[in-house]
Amino acid sequence: MGKHRVSRRRRDSGILVNVRRRLILFLFLFIVAAGQFLLAYAQTAQAPAATAPEQGAPQTPGQVPVPAQPAPPSHTLSMVVLDPAHGGADQGARGLSGISESDVVLTFARLMRISLEGQSLRVILTRAANEDPSFDDRSKTANAQRGAIFITLHVSSTGQPGTVRVYSEAPGTTPPAPRTGLIPWDRAQAGSVDLSRRLAELIQIQMAQRFRGSPETPLLAPVRQLRTIAAPAVAIEVSSVSLPDRGPLDQMAPAIADGVARAVAAFRIIYESGGK
Ligand SMILES: [Zn+2]
Repeated sequence: MGKHRVSRRRRDSGILVNVRRRLILFLFLFIVAAGQFLLAYAQTAQAPAATAPEQGAPQTPGQVPVPAQPAPPSHTLSMVVLDPAHGGADQGARGLSGISESDVVLTFARLMRISLEGQSLRVILTRAANEDPSFDDRSKTANAQRGAIFITLHVSSTGQPGTVRVYSEAPGTTPPAPRTGLIPWDRAQAGSVDLSRRLAELIQIQMAQRFRGSPETPLLAPVRQLRTIAAPAVAIEVSSVSLPDRGPLDQMAPAIADGVARAVAAFRIIYESGGK
């Protein structure tokens, strides 16, 4: 029994020793392998976290974000289109004393040109003499320019003599232009009514300072010539052809020209800062 036990123990222990050795060796190798695997896993898992850039920052040069909208092109006010209204067979308003609107506005425009050129602005007249371009021809002249504003000049048959009123197209008078595609000709002014109003305000203030009885603020009105201008556009109306002679109107011309030039110089800053 004792011998049997001994021999069995030896035999058993021999088997057990082999099994235990293999098991221990296997477990040891398993633990080493598992440990190395876990260590390597932990290092790879931590490595990106330690050096990860801020969320949303560019990862490579090719992923540098670009603005959705490019910066708006800078626009410069460089041109004034002056429109002496009427002309040719159309004399416009005509006084009993023989003053004709078409003559007087041409004088106004010529003086205004000199004052505006003194502000380093280029000036175009829609007519240089006694021609009568159509409304559309005058609008074409204006709309062919870049960085331009448009001023149409009139002398009324009514109103307190020696006063000046400035008009711009009322918002909503022209239906809003579609967002894409070509702008219909008669909606051209719709995109400029706010800037036109600002220009009208600046000119009207200058006129009120120079000509007693003139309003302090400009008027909004549907003006045929302004509707087809795709730029800031105003009408200036001087009173009136009812005077006994041209003298008082001609005397107003230099002050009108100077006031308009100063107003345009102030407007230029607004225009070039994008209407702010
Ligand atoms: Zn007129």
